[in-house]
Amino acid sequence: MLRMAEPLIHHRSAEFRSLLSRVTAHLGYLFQTGDPVLTLTCSGTGGVEATFVSLFSPGETVIVLNGGKFGERWVQMGRAFGLEVVEIRTPWGEAADPLVVASALRAHPHASGVYVTHCETSTGTANDVREIARVVRENSRALVCVDGISSVGALELRCGAWGVDVCVTGSQKGLMIPPGLAFVSLGERAVRAASESKMPKYYFDLGTALRAHERGDTSWTPAIALVQGADASLAMIRGEGMENIWSRHARLAGGLRAGVAALGLSLFSSSPSNSVTAVRLPGGVEWTAFAAALRKGSGVTFAGGQAEQAGKIFRIGHLGYIDEPDILTAVSAVERALSACGFAFDRGAGLRATEGEFFRLTAHGGGR
Ligand SMILES: *Cc1c(COP(=O)(O)O)cnc(C)c1O
Repeated sequence: MLRMAEPLIHHRSAEFRSLLSRVTAHLGYLFQTGDPVLTLTCSGTGGVEATFVSLFSPGETVIVLNGGKFGERWVQMGRAFGLEVVEIRTPWGEAADPLVVASALRAHPHASGVYVTHCETSTGTANDVREIARVVRENSRALVCVDGISSVGALELRCGAWGVDVCVTGSQKGLMIPPGLAFVSLGERAVRAASESKMPKYYFDLGTALRAHERGDTSWTPAIALVQGADASLAMIRGEGMENIWSRHARLAGGLRAGVAALGLSLFSSSPSNSVTAVRLPGGVEWTAFAAALRKGSGVTFAGGQAEQAGKIFRIGHLGYIDEPDILTAVSAVERALSACGFAFDRGAGLRATEGEFFRLTAHGGGR
C-alpha cells in the first residue's frame, strides 16, 4: 500500500477534496447505498460511539443484540451515555432470532434504535441483518444500526435495499489498510435524528461531520495517509465488484469449513460467518501449546477465544486481501500444529477436503 507512503496532500486543499469525494463515492458502492458515508478519524469503536452520541438523547431506549464481546461492548457503551439499553442476549455462537427482536419491539414500542453486530467477531457468527432490518422497519420507528466492522467488504450487505439506517465499519478489516479510520453511513431518518439529538458531544458529532461532508470536507484534521490508502483499496474493491467479493468470501469460508471438518474438528458457531471462522479446540489439545506450534511450524497466528471461550476455541480471520492459497496455508498450519500437539487424525485430509470444496464451489459458478 505504497499510496500511504506518498507525500501527504494538505487536507484543506482542492486536491484533498477531490480525493475525499472519490473515496466517498466508492464508499457508497461498498455499503451499497445512496446515503452519505462519512469518513471519521478513529477506530471502528469510535465510529459506533459517534452514532450513540449523535442520534439519540439521554433516557431514550435502544435495543442492543448481544451475542458476544462486541454486542456486549455496545450494551456498555449505550449505558455509559445514559441510554435505557434493552439487551437481547443470544448464547455465544448463535445468531439472534428476528422473532425475538420483533417481540422486544412490541414490549418497547418507543425504542429509538436497534443495534445489531453483523458479524460477531468474537464467536465467528453472522446475524441475519436483512431479516432483522425488515422486522425493525415493520414493527417500529427505531433506527436500524449495524456494526459492520468485520462484515463490510466480506458478507453480503445492501444498506440501501435492506433499510439499514446506520452502518459503521473500520479501515483495518474489509478495507485492508491499517487501523485509524471509521466509515459511517447515515440514512435520511438518521440525519433527522442527528438534528434532534441532545446528547453532549463535540469531536464525534455526526451533525458537524455531515455539514463538513456537504462541503466536501472533514470536521477535523483527518488521517490523510489512510484516506490515500482507502482510495487505493476502494479502487481494488470496485475493480473486483461487490458480488464477486461476497462470493469469494463464501468460497474461502466454505473451503476452510470443509477442511476443519475433515480433521474431525467442529465449528463453534451454528451460523458461521464468511469473514472469520471459530473452531473448537479438540480435547487434549491445549491452546497455548497449539498457538506456539502454529507459530513455530508455520509462522501463522490465529486468535484465541475471548472471555468465556478463552482456551476453548481458536479463530481464523479471512476477510479482505485473501485468496485460496491463504486458506490452504491456514489448513496446513492447523494440521501441523495438531500433529505437534499429539492429536490423531488423517494427515492431509483437511487439505484434500478444502481443495475439493474449492473445486466444487468453483464448478458451481463460485469462481471469478
Ligand atoms: C474489530 C471489531 C470492532 C472494533 O473495532 P476497533 O477498530 O478495534 O475499534 C467492533 N466490532 C466488530 C464486529 C469488530 O470485528
